[in-house]
This record gives sequence, structure tokens and C-alpha cells, in this order.
Amino acid sequence: MSSRFDVAVIGAGVFGCWSAYWLRKAGLRVVLVDAYGPANSRSSSGGESRITRMAYGDDEIYSRWALNSLPAWLDLERRSGHKLFHQTGVLTFSDDSTQWAQKSIAVIRRIGGECEYLSVDELAKRFPQVRFKQNESAVFEPRSGALLSRHAVQLLVEELIRDGVEYRQASISPNPDGTAITIPSGETISAAAYVYACGPWLPKLFPDLLASYIRPVRAEVFFLGIPAGIRGFDPPQMPTWIFMGNENWDAYGMPNLAGRGFKLAVDLIQQPADPDTMDRQSTTPYVKQMRDFVCERFPQLATAPIVETRVCQYENTLTHNYLVDRHPESESVWLVGGGSGHGFKNGPAIGAYVTDLITKNVPLEAAMRLPAR
Ligand SMILES: Cc1cc2nc3c(=O)[nH]c(=O)nc-3n(C[C@H](O)[C@H](O)[C@H](O)COP(=O)(O)OP(=O)(O)OC[C@H]3O[C@@H](n4cnc5c(N)ncnc54)[C@H](O)[C@@H]3O)c2cc1C
Repeated sequence: MSSRFDVAVIGAGVFGCWSAYWLRKAGLRVVLVDAYGPANSRSSSGGESRITRMAYGDDEIYSRWALNSLPAWLDLERRSGHKLFHQTGVLTFSDDSTQWAQKSIAVIRRIGGECEYLSVDELAKRFPQVRFKQNESAVFEPRSGALLSRHAVQLLVEELIRDGVEYRQASISPNPDGTAITIPSGETISAAAYVYACGPWLPKLFPDLLASYIRPVRAEVFFLGIPAGIRGFDPPQMPTWIFMGNENWDAYGMPNLAGRGFKLAVDLIQQPADPDTMDRQSTTPYVKQMRDFVCERFPQLATAPIVETRVCQYENTLTHNYLVDRHPESESVWLVGGGSGHGFKNGPAIGAYVTDLITKNVPLEAAMRLPAR
């Protein structure tokens, strides 16, 4: 059997399904294919929650995309009738020497977003449950917060199927030259364009091109049970937060949402990850770095029990920019990924950009292109 589409999107994570969404809105015949299912447990989009924030230092495109993406998430929430966004506010704090807060605020105000600057004295007053250092400052975004990621992607795919996107569950071996792909059921799928939105699998699918550019890195996420009688870790007292370290590492977390506990991850250790085969139980070194950070920053939670863990992977590019580019061997093959631990929120904007590239031939964003070879 053979089927013909305008676009075949391979990968039903957040990048692939928002690409399928806007391509379908543009009137195209779209097929969406995924090896393990939309927002499956191995995928980077498969976690329970993801932060949406505009603070990106002076990386304006990501701030703008975050500002533009939030209404699309809220629209999906409204259409689906399911809560997908918690407006907890997002607090990003950092050593003043990074100027992270100041740079982010300049960009957020320029693009029309809402935020405020908080000095260390204001931080200590507003968030006494967090221990800040004397030389720190922060940007607070009252309208940002947490997206319920897995649920949102799965609801979007259900909607896509209702709206005429065809879905296949199958593992694809790519044809970098843009010729038809055959899936294990025997069906041959041919399309005018192929979008490979395979997240951390991209380096496996295109090893010559991407093995040294995208590196999947293990990420262990913890949920701490708030001890009885301890206050300040539920919204609205506790916002979603990010610590931007000045030595190329960060930590982030969320207040106790839906009773899941206080979520946090510390990204100091950088172990390689294999999205197909890696064991997804937490490990001692990651528990230790999390505990050290909690003792330092949230001392009331120093002995709080771990009530849940998740192990995922970031698909980090060398520059930490996303990857959106044509395959160098074929005009009709697109590579979309490299979320680098910050891609989820921007799924709607990435999907819209991919659609404009395919339907309007808009110029490529230089920072998201493959490095010259
Ligand atoms: C722990 C953690 C926390 C994060 N926190 C945030 C955050 O707070 N805010 C934020 O914005 N971002 C965050 N991110 C990043 C964000 O989740 C990712 O950038 C984003 O989900 C990547 O989506 P994707 O669609 O590129 O990849 P994925 O979600 O991994 O989707 C790729 C899909 O491709 C499919 N696939 C792979 N190979 C094949 C094949 N051969 N054939 C068919 N299908 C295939 C897979 O099954 C998978 O479903 C975080 C990531 C992690 C891991």
C-alpha cells in the first residue's frame, strides 16, 4: 500500500505535533508518525510538567517565541477543556555578575511582556522559604508558569487526528535523500516534505550529520514531599523558579502542583543518555547533587522525602540553540530538534516557523542552522 501526503512529520513530541498542527491549519495533507507514541515515557516531551518563561538573557528570539507560544497553549487548554497551564509566576535568579535579570528584563519589556526586577532584599522579603546569596538578583514573570506537558501533547495529537491528520505508530528509518519511506506494516509513505522531529533520537537517525552536534544528556528530576506543617512551597507563595548558575549549569523547579510534591532538577552532572535503552531510575550522584542544592537553597526541605522521580534526557546542541534546518542532501528533508532542555514552551512557535519555512520559504534563522561542515 502506498499513501501520498504533502508533509510527513516523523516524531510526535512537542516539536512534531505543533508542526503538524500549523501545517494542517495551512490546508496541507499531513501524516504524523511516532515510534513509541505521542509524549511517550522515553521522549523529552513525556514529562508531567515544563516551565514556560520569557527570561532568556539577551537571546530575544526565545523570549519572543515564549511570549507568542503561551496564547497557543491557552487556546489548546480552552479547546480541550483540560487544565494545561498553572500560572504560578516564574522567578529566575542568578549572580548579579551574569546580568541575567537585567538583560532579560530589557528584552521582555521591549517585546511587550510583563516582568519585574527583584533585588536580594526584595527576594528575601517575598520568598523567605528560599535562601538567596547576597550578590543575587532576579526577574519575576507573573504571567508565566508551568505547562502540563505530556497531557498537552497527547490532547493535541487527539485533536490533530480529529482534524484530519493521519497518525501511524511506527519506527522510521530515514531516507536523507527525500525519497518515500516504508514503515514496518509495509505501507510506503511519500510526501513533498519530510520533517524529522525526533528529539534525542536525531543523532541516531542521522549519525554522520548530527552525532557530534546533538548530545543526549541524562536528566534526573525529583519530587519532594513537603513535610507536615511546613508552609510556603505551594502556589502562590512558591513560584516556579530557575537558578541560572554562572558556571554553565542551572537548577529549576516548581511548587507543589496537584499534590505531586516540590519538583526540582539540578543540571551539574552531564552524563550521556540513550533514549531507547537507558535505565530510568534515579542514581546516587544525581540524588546527592539535588540534596546539596536543597540544603543550600531550601533548608526547610533538607530531609524531605523523595516521593517521585523521573529520568529523561536533554538533547543538547553544542550551542544550546534549537536545530531547524534542511538536510544538506535534500531540499525536502527538514531536521527539527535540539531542544537543549528549553524547547517545550516554544513548541507552538517552532511549529509555526517550520510551517512558514515549508509553505512560504521564509529565511532560516542563522542560530538554528547546522554548523558549516
Ligand atoms: C527533565 C527535562 C526538563 C525539561 N524542562 C523544560 C522546561 O521546563 N521548559 C521547556 O521549555 N523545556 C524543557 N525541557 C525540554 C523539552 O522538554 C524538550 O526540548 C522538548 O520536549 C523536545 O521535544 P521534541 O519534540 O524535540 O522531542 P521528543 O519529545 O523526544 O519527541 C521525539 C519523538 O520522536 C519519536 N521518534 C524517535 N525516533 C523515531 C523514529 N525512528 N521513527 C518514528 N518516531 C521516532 C519519539 O518516539 C518521540 O516521541 C526539558 C526536558 C527535560 C528532559
